[in-house]
Amino acid sequence: MAKKYFIETFGCQMNELDSEKIAGNLQNAGMEPARDAAGADVIILNTCSVREKAVQKVYGRLGEIKGWKTSRQDLIIGVAGCMAQLEGNRLLKKAPFVDVLAGPQKGHVMSSLVARAQETRTPAVDLRMDDDPEPLETSFVLRESRWRAGITISEGCDRNCSFCVVPFTRGRQRDRESGNIIREAADLAGQGYIELVLLGQTVNAYRDPSPAGLTFAGLLRNLASVPGLSRIRFTAPHPNYFDDELLDVVASCPQVCNHVHLPVQSGSDRILRAMRRGYTRKKYLETVHKIRRSGRAIAVSTDIIVGFPGETAADFGDTLHLLDEVQYDCVFSFKYSPRPGTAALMLSDDVTHEEKGERLMRLQEQQKLIQFNKNAAFLGQRVEVLAEGGARANYRLSGRMSNNRIVNFDGPDSLLGSIVSVEVTGFSPNSLKGAWIG
Ligand code: SF4
Repeated sequence: MAKKYFIETFGCQMNELDSEKIAGNLQNAGMEPARDAAGADVIILNTCSVREKAVQKVYGRLGEIKGWKTSRQDLIIGVAGCMAQLEGNRLLKKAPFVDVLAGPQKGHVMSSLVARAQETRTPAVDLRMDDDPEPLETSFVLRESRWRAGITISEGCDRNCSFCVVPFTRGRQRDRESGNIIREAADLAGQGYIELVLLGQTVNAYRDPSPAGLTFAGLLRNLASVPGLSRIRFTAPHPNYFDDELLDVVASCPQVCNHVHLPVQSGSDRILRAMRRGYTRKKYLETVHKIRRSGRAIAVSTDIIVGFPGETAADFGDTLHLLDEVQYDCVFSFKYSPRPGTAALMLSDDVTHEEKGERLMRLQEQQKLIQFNKNAAFLGQRVEVLAEGGARANYRLSGRMSNNRIVNFDGPDSLLGSIVSVEVTGFSPNSLKGAWIG
């Protein structure tokens, strides 16, 4: 009988796609998906290490499943992804019952690591960071969605933001050849996928290693002409690489979604310098203003860290003012958390836990009001939504507009996977509610 696997994913969209690649690799080796962790022979936790909280969550989960090994001697527990890479053998010391430890570059060899652990009954470890672009060319991806697909265009990052572990977990930037990306996109479109999400740690720093030598903007333009693709998203761009060529593609290609996620991290120049972000508040705002003046209604979202070492009340005030000035459509905000190996670890983490919590709450309250007002403007409008499942609060369907707003609405399941018209009848700061216009 085929062995069953179950993957639990923590973290970002890149990790979600990595889990789909791990699933494809295991399935290709003859395994089948289990309905839940309790029914699996192989449990893989695909982990994140961006914040200490994410790491603690995985240790908590490992604590829960550890006991299962007493009654199920053959159970294989694997830890993959950024936390596995960062914790390394420390993880095996803390959780000696873990059988497989694989870094984020090693999803394509997961089945052989599992087989090795089963055979030898000792941990199979592969944390090599060989910076080889070849594993980015994954042949087997078991996708969760039948209409939205992630595509890795690059992995790793050559920047060195002082708070960030990515350069230590995913290594230096490696880029796929544009021809392979375009072929994969065309293949997905042929299978009926209508929305693509281009993924890379600094996605717009993409450098085509093939003779075609496309820029990120050039790649986007080529992808926009793939027949059948209605929507193309990308995440996450770095403000420094958001040039006029890219702006022009976003403004002029209707297939490219009218949403830009532009992580700012702080509104204070002093803190931006300490974070080594490589831009000033003024420079960042210039880019946002260009996006907003592009002639297309482009939603802008961001990431913000509060309580970075040395952040004063005045620095934090600058961030709050930035929120008012930009009027973001969505903000992902977090408390600073010191990460191993980063330059910021050398700085004194002098903003107290309470202050961080209080600042985060203030920022989120302020942003909630901005989103409430922005979403109110959609009331009565007819909007286009890619219908998906998983609606909340009594609605049957849910989906996203091109500008990334979530819309909950009622309609038959036959709408799933198509772009439909919905009249907005209600709103909250985080989503819209509507009625399908049949
Ligand atoms: S650009 Fe992004 S991924 Fe790269 S080091 Fe900075 S925060 Fe990390």
